[in-house]
Amino acid sequence: MKIAVARETRDGEARVAMVPELVGKLTGLGYDVLVEPGAGEHALIADADYEAAGAGVAADAVEQADVLVAVQPPATDVVRRLRSGAATVSFLPTGQEPEIVTALRDGGVTSFAMELVPRISRAQSMDALSSQALVSGYRCAIVAAGMLRRFFPLNMTAAGTVPPAEVVVLGAGVAGLQAIATAKRLGAVVKAYDVRAAAAEEIRSMGAQAIDLELDTLEGAGGYAREMTEERAALQMERLAPYVANADALITTAAVPGRKAPLLVTAAMVERMRPGSVVVDLAAESGGNVEGAVAGEVVRIGNAQVWGGRNVPSQMPGPASRLYAQNIVNIVTLMTAEGAFAPDFEDEIVTGSCVTHGGAIRHEPTRVALE
Ligand code: NAD
Repeated sequence: MKIAVARETRDGEARVAMVPELVGKLTGLGYDVLVEPGAGEHALIADADYEAAGAGVAADAVEQADVLVAVQPPATDVVRRLRSGAATVSFLPTGQEPEIVTALRDGGVTSFAMELVPRISRAQSMDALSSQALVSGYRCAIVAAGMLRRFFPLNMTAAGTVPPAEVVVLGAGVAGLQAIATAKRLGAVVKAYDVRAAAAEEIRSMGAQAIDLELDTLEGAGGYAREMTEERAALQMERLAPYVANADALITTAAVPGRKAPLLVTAAMVERMRPGSVVVDLAAESGGNVEGAVAGEVVRIGNAQVWGGRNVPSQMPGPASRLYAQNIVNIVTLMTAEGAFAPDFEDEIVTGSCVTHGGAIRHEPTRVALE
């Protein structure tokens, strides 16, 4: 059977779903691996590197595919090139991509969405949300350090002592904890806040100070956060305001599954920050944690430069692709039996991540929304 590696076509997408180091894992399972020409170009991987690893490079890789692996959802024209009965494994935000979902259904394609892989222990090695959030969190801290025109660490020199920068991180999930760890490694004093009960201990375990706003925690299903009420949001803002005003760098990473990102910081709060302060909003493209942040741009609010994240993992395409490709290898391995792609629809990872199969939409919330 053949696994094709897509050349990503979305604007700004530099990642690729498979890297040469891991091609051998797929061939070891019994697959032939075919790569679309130039698939790794933006991640600085040459076609020849894939060939040296045992893959073929073919312009008609999609047409030949039994399984197409990709980072972004395959565009509808790519879906039409797949044969009926083929499968796709990629990110597939079904709420935002109804046309692609219906094209997959109508084309008889079995599709799996990486963001729907259940977050259970057995599926941790397939969890692409986590692997890419790790890249994003690191990148956010590095961007903040790069934009701030002062030191992160304390410097004690013969010419005097330079105090460390104060970094405030809001949202301490996978990305936020990685931002905390990175800012700590660079020597900043880090304070962080998250609504989940478990978060304070996780923040402290990274060596940061957990901000206590003396508010109830907000636990939702599956260990995620719940949405805030308006009243709670206003109180949280009021109590966070002095921490934001004192920060040299503010990094926001808060999200609530299936919802717009919560607004945590108003423009008025940013306006109270000191001259030269920086704000990095990872959530800018999903609604924004910071009022006025624009995805993919740096805007000035008051005295602060505000950086809005846009496809942040793609800004480090090499490592992001390597981690994503490992997630892909692990999920494909789960769905392979005796050298053939044969997903077991009794397995909750398979059923949980399946969007379309056999000409039908299998993901219930998507089916209800579209049919
Ligand atoms: P996420 O991207 O949905 O959200 C990021 C963070 O924002 C979360 O920690 C959330 O609590 C926080 N947040 C939401 N609303 C907020 C608000 N109003 N103010 C401040 N913070 C707010 O979450 P994630 O990073 O993908 O993961 C969150 C949790 O899930 C973590 O506990 C993580 O350890 C857990 N997790 C478990 C698994 C697994 O078991 N396989 C995998 C990944 C993550």
